[in-house]
Amino acid sequence: MHFQPEFAFEGQPVRVRFAPGVRRCTGEEIARLGCSRALVLSTPPQADAAMEMAQEIGDAAVGVFTKAAMHTPVAITEEAVQHARYVRADCVVAIGGGSTTGLGKAIALRTELPQIVIPTTYAGSEVTAILGQTEKGEKTTITDPKVRPEVVLYDAELVRSLPVAMTVTSALNAMAHAVEGLYAQNRNPVSTLMAIEGLEAFAASLPDVMRNPHDLEARGATLYGAWLCGTVLGQVGMALHHKLCHTLGGSFDLPHAETHAVVLAHAIGFNARAAGRELEPVSRIFGGDRPGQALYDFAKSLGAPLGLREIGMKEADLPRAADLAAAKPYWNPQPVSRDEILKLLEAAWAGDPPA
Ligand code: NAD
Repeated sequence: MHFQPEFAFEGQPVRVRFAPGVRRCTGEEIARLGCSRALVLSTPPQADAAMEMAQEIGDAAVGVFTKAAMHTPVAITEEAVQHARYVRADCVVAIGGGSTTGLGKAIALRTELPQIVIPTTYAGSEVTAILGQTEKGEKTTITDPKVRPEVVLYDAELVRSLPVAMTVTSALNAMAHAVEGLYAQNRNPVSTLMAIEGLEAFAASLPDVMRNPHDLEARGATLYGAWLCGTVLGQVGMALHHKLCHTLGGSFDLPHAETHAVVLAHAIGFNARAAGRELEPVSRIFGGDRPGQALYDFAKSLGAPLGLREIGMKEADLPRAADLAAAKPYWNPQPVSRDEILKLLEAAWAGDPPA
């Protein structure tokens, strides 16, 4: 039982559909929203998927915009908004990972157009009211209910094409939302249930996906995990792990999902000292009695990158990263000093097991 004597819970209005092939119901969902002029969004590598989607939607698709990019650059958003106005779009359909979802949210922020998201990674952005945007090299993050998508269609057929390496890092990125959600200051019994179920879904299905990336049932279970973990991110605050990843991604340009994959075990190893009880489900699900080590072993078994040095971090930049991460800390279950952060980052850089 996950009862807490005191908590606040807010249900979030989003329509979620799960089924292999459910992307073919996009036209139906556009009509359900009372819309008839969709602008389809994607990144350049997923332009074919966007074209197919536009064909599938038929007359209700009025345009395709395929320039979505990592960290939602404002210049691209402005171009997309202009395009949406030009074709008189009354909704957007985002097909892709967190980058494409981010573009849809950024358009919604400026135009209030409703969004249908068809996720093809496990990032989870589709179920949050959070939007990160970049302009002149600076990333700012806002939380605004206006950017939360109205409809999410989870279609396992679409994640089968996600390369195995990206599958692993994207899944660990999703799991990080759930793990930090377990000790969040504003967690509630429902967010805890979702976090545990999300972690169980990934623990059970990822080994099957590794054996056969086209296993539709296992892919479906990973998407189920992504939905749950993303919903946790949308409900509760994140702590040290996310602070470190935002610092490394924002100031050192490290790749998003890979950074989460490397840092998670170390941040959790550190926080287990103060949040041991809250993190017990992690040890139960992934084995052993040390949650940081359990996550490290799980990531290793999946062939995930283990060291920041493997993903582009320079050893000489670690002290500056520690300064930045310590400067404006997020709430964390235990206070953390700049020197402790540096020690943690040094172990993460080398790929050593967590302390
Ligand atoms: P992504 O969307 O950039 O995708 C990475 C690459 O993989 C892209 O080139 C994409 O086209 C390709 N790709 C995606 N799905 C594929 C598939 N099924 N098959 C083949 N190729 C595929 O990466 P991401 O990790 O999904 O998202 C990262 C971005 O999302 C970051 O900008 C991050 O800040 C943001 N994000 C935001 C939130 C939020 O709540 N606001 C949450 C998580 C992530």
